[in-house]
Amino acid sequence: MKLDERQRMIDDIEYHVRYTRSLIGTDALNERVMEAMRAVPRHEFVPPDARAYAYANGPAPIGHGQTISQPYIVALMTDLLNPGQEDVVLEVGSGSGYQAAVLSLLVRKVYSIEVIEDLAQQATRRLARLGYTNVEISVGDGHFGYPEKAPFDGIVVTAAASHIPPALVNQLKEGARLVIPVGLPFMPQELMVVEKGEGGTTTTRDVLGVAFVPLVDKGAVHKPQ
Ligand code: SAH
Repeated sequence: MKLDERQRMIDDIEYHVRYTRSLIGTDALNERVMEAMRAVPRHEFVPPDARAYAYANGPAPIGHGQTISQPYIVALMTDLLNPGQEDVVLEVGSGSGYQAAVLSLLVRKVYSIEVIEDLAQQATRRLARLGYTNVEISVGDGHFGYPEKAPFDGIVVTAAASHIPPALVNQLKEGARLVIPVGLPFMPQELMVVEKGEGGTTTTRDVLGVAFVPLVDKGAVHKPQ
């Protein structure tokens, strides 16, 4: 049953990739990325009442007003990051830990930063229980990246930033990419890819319009007393 649903999710992603081929510039995503999408049990990353549609190609609520992203978008962003087996990557916005789990199958080490402490704790426990041992989640404001572990072979931001945070560009290695939705909250956003070239020059391209929850400033997060 679950396997059929997962296959349907893969078929849906492939369909959406073909449908958006003129925007994303490809007919098919990297095979390794699709294998990772097939392997990660998405139903383990959504709340129990969302399990019935865990493999539908849509976002799902994960509490604290946050969402686990649509599978097509997770696959596309992972593909745009161009992950290599020996890479060390940074994710901003751990949420449920799903994107981190997908990445963990493709690279050597995943660092992920989450601003909401409760989500960070839940995701850490979930990933440990499911055996994703090469992911480390920390609580913090991802606008500043993770200077202690920089530079990275790739950075993916899974919440919409109002601008491209300079700290994240600084923390890219040469040849590395930053994949980030940019735009104001509740306005159309653009998924962008910033690539750092030789000598630190950067090139930026827009891929397609997306809708993400906003990347917030740490001070804006309500802390339970
Ligand atoms: N990648 C997640 C989905 C992310 S939803 C998954 O696979 O489930 C966006 C996440 O970004 C939310 O959990 C939100 O709390 C977090 N976030 C928002 N602003 C942030 C910031 N400044 N730093 C780190 N995380 C942030």
